[in-house]
Amino acid sequence: MEISKDVLAALIDGKLDWERTKAIISGEKDLDRFDKYIEILQERVPWKEKIVLPLGEHLYIVQKDREYVVKCDCGYEFGDYRVNWKLNALIHVRDTKEKLLEVYPYPESPGLPDPEYCNIREFYCPNCGALLEVEAVPKFYPIIFDFLPDLGTFYSDWLNRPLPFPTEFKDLTYDVTKEWRKELEE
Ligand SMILES: [Zn+2]
Repeated sequence: MEISKDVLAALIDGKLDWERTKAIISGEKDLDRFDKYIEILQERVPWKEKIVLPLGEHLYIVQKDREYVVKCDCGYEFGDYRVNWKLNALIHVRDTKEKLLEVYPYPESPGLPDPEYCNIREFYCPNCGALLEVEAVPKFYPIIFDFLPDLGTFYSDWLNRPLPFPTEFKDLTYDVTKEWRKELEE
């Protein structure tokens, strides 16, 4: 089934009724759907770097020169996509009962986590202030790297074309935190 860009844009915005949505989701995927999807997203962002893969509501992996970086729709860049972008976000930790209650509409609800064991972390864009991600984790738990895609494989095996510039599939997050530790020890 061939889907027009307008229909796909409506689907992204949640503006299609369920019957149409279901037909598209269960229909045989046309090969260029990903490209159309990227094209729509690209038209909506104010910058020129090419989107390689969307990461979330506000974040994209984009090609910048010969590198791939995480970029917010406002233009803020979080650096190499292989480093957890959360390290460069503003982090608000809800680690007291008062702070947790701010986001729990029913204070008496048994679902309120005990801040001694569980924290809620909110990650914001340092430039536009958009809330990018929320994680509920045991206290002191390392920051979660939600999604490190294998871009090379995704392009070659799924899109049947090579990634413009090869990149090693490797989590570089700990290289950064190791550096931070060194700086602290100096
Ligand atoms: Zn932003």
